[in-house]
Amino acid sequence: MKAWQITAFGGPEQLALRDLPQPEPQAGEALVRVTHCGVNPIDRSVIGGRFSWLPLPHTPGAEIVGVVEALGPGTDGAPPPGTPAALAFRLFCGRCRHCLVGREEACLADPRGRSAPVSLGVTAPGGFAEYVVAPAQNCLPLPAGLAPAEACTAVVDGTTAWHMLDRARVTSGDQVLVVGATGGVGLYAVQMARLRGARVAALGGGADKARQLRDWGAELAIDYRTDDVLARVREWTDGRGVDVVVDPLGAGTWATSIAALAPFGRYVTCGILTGAEVTLNLAPFYAQQQEVLGSTGGSRADLARVLAELGAGRLRAAIWRQFPFAEAPAALTALDDRARVGKIVLQVTG
Ligand SMILES: [Zn+2]
Repeated sequence: MKAWQITAFGGPEQLALRDLPQPEPQAGEALVRVTHCGVNPIDRSVIGGRFSWLPLPHTPGAEIVGVVEALGPGTDGAPPPGTPAALAFRLFCGRCRHCLVGREEACLADPRGRSAPVSLGVTAPGGFAEYVVAPAQNCLPLPAGLAPAEACTAVVDGTTAWHMLDRARVTSGDQVLVVGATGGVGLYAVQMARLRGARVAALGGGADKARQLRDWGAELAIDYRTDDVLARVREWTDGRGVDVVVDPLGAGTWATSIAALAPFGRYVTCGILTGAEVTLNLAPFYAQQQEVLGSTGGSRADLARVLAELGAGRLRAAIWRQFPFAEAPAALTALDDRARVGKIVLQVTG
């Protein structure tokens, strides 16, 4: 089979297309023919060496959708061969205290004790390949009628956004500010907050992106390049601030995000793309009884819910561009395109 691999850390130019033996499913595993794989900032982090201890060569690609081709022994109840499936990207043991209550994203089973998610494309071979082997328990059948290219946007970004909104208890009537709203997680967060009956303000760069954010359901689109973000938020909330800030970006937007919170406001983050270290003035924070919440990935139940909402047409996949498999390095480079709104998807096999 063909697979894109890195043999050294660096930029997308480190990827090389190689011929590898087709993997065989062992006990508890499924062999999946990859049809589509999302291109995610986590792939850039992996290729760039954020997890410098990763054994090389390595195949990236976390957002995998394909067709179950074969099952190893001990896979009773798994989707049978021929089933189109999305692969939950976190690997999990199914036995630890978190797995037993359906919090697979917090599974304790990393045998290496590393501070990285144990997941497809990160610490296990990923979907920039024609075939991948994954635990059968990670295979979730696609709802009838859901296009696989759309489904792959749910695997990381959709699931992550859904989980963040759960963590922040977003509910009807909340006023929610989504930061980094034109990214894959952000566009899902905008839609999902609306789905829960919340009112949404979305932060993006440039007039064209602001217009698109309104098309995706934002009541207020704020252009961080030209607008006074906090002034717009105060105006929108009658001076109160927002109930929830969904901020996938990290340190770069932290100060504004915290300042935008209302009393009892909840800040939730899932990433550190713009840095990890922040400072917090505890005086207004405790006096206003606010909360800072971490969130990482999501569970199989989260993924199943997002797939169902996509299948029912209550969510839309924001696919910006699709690239053929042969152009994986260009697809990764396109993550930085300033015009990008939504997801980049790699078409792997027909
Ligand atoms: Zn576990």
